[in-house]
Amino acid sequence: MAQREIQKLKETILKEYPRLKKDDKFKFACHSGVSCFNECCGDVNIFLTPYDVLRLKNALGISSQEFLDKYTILPIDQNQRLPVVMLRMQENEKKTCYFVSEEGCTVYENRPWACRMYPLGLASPGELAANLNEGFYFILKESVCKGFNENKEWTVREWIKDQGIAEYDKFGEMYKEIYTHPYLEKAPELTPQKIDMFFLACYNLDKFRDFIFHSTFLQKFNLEDDLPDKIKTDDEELLKFSFRWIRFALFGEKTMNIKDDVRTVAEKKLEEKRRKAAK
Ligand code: SF4
Ligand code: SF4
Repeated sequence: MAQREIQKLKETILKEYPRLKKDDKFKFACHSGVSCFNECCGDVNIFLTPYDVLRLKNALGISSQEFLDKYTILPIDQNQRLPVVMLRMQENEKKTCYFVSEEGCTVYENRPWACRMYPLGLASPGELAANLNEGFYFILKESVCKGFNENKEWTVREWIKDQGIAEYDKFGEMYKEIYTHPYLEKAPELTPQKIDMFFLACYNLDKFRDFIFHSTFLQKFNLEDDLPDKIKTDDEELLKFSFRWIRFALFGEKTMNIKDDVRTVAEKKLEEKRRKAAK
């Protein structure tokens, strides 16, 4: 979906879609007995969050690089400040998802946030519209979907719990603080180096780990004593650290502590540069 279409959809959601709160109810059920079973798992735009990528690449037992190469696309849009990642569909007639089988989703336990949420959508302040004060849920009705004819009733709260969305939301909130960061509104274009760093830290976690452990990174920063061990083996800890690193490297926040000797050398170099420029 192009940026203009996304913007149009956002405006329609804001103006026309009924707004649901956590205790509002809706009727829906999805199971292998519905006549549309698997119909929605093709030709669909699914944006992946960094946590989606983490879960999927681990479920498949492959590296983040392999997952990105095989199963994602990076749509390019001029208005976009940061790269986004979408699930790649197969190049067959129905453009089916790589993970759908006759029995349903083969990565069900680790399916992306968007697949869990359907038929609910979430409109968040700062994301859907800058002036939206309070977030709300809404129902997305795909024309092919017969799940709304089923008799099972849910509150929004029950659906979120049933679909295991809380874990995803925890990382989703951290990620949202990055892509809605005020720096991105005020700053000029990010340099290609900063965009690459964002992509590496958010989406290519295994390569980001290599960067930390196979460069001079650990010689430059004071980290908490137990942090290197944690991020060496635990992807979730590494992703939390990635967000912290992005705040430092992209937005200039003081989330990292540079070692004194490294700072002194850097300051001397900067001073030297200034002196030369002033001549
Ligand atoms: S990840 Fe699973 S639920 Fe989502 S589109 Fe693919 S097959 Fe369907
Ligand atoms: S179209 Fe709706 S009911 Fe049918 S499989 Fe997809 S989500 Fe379930």
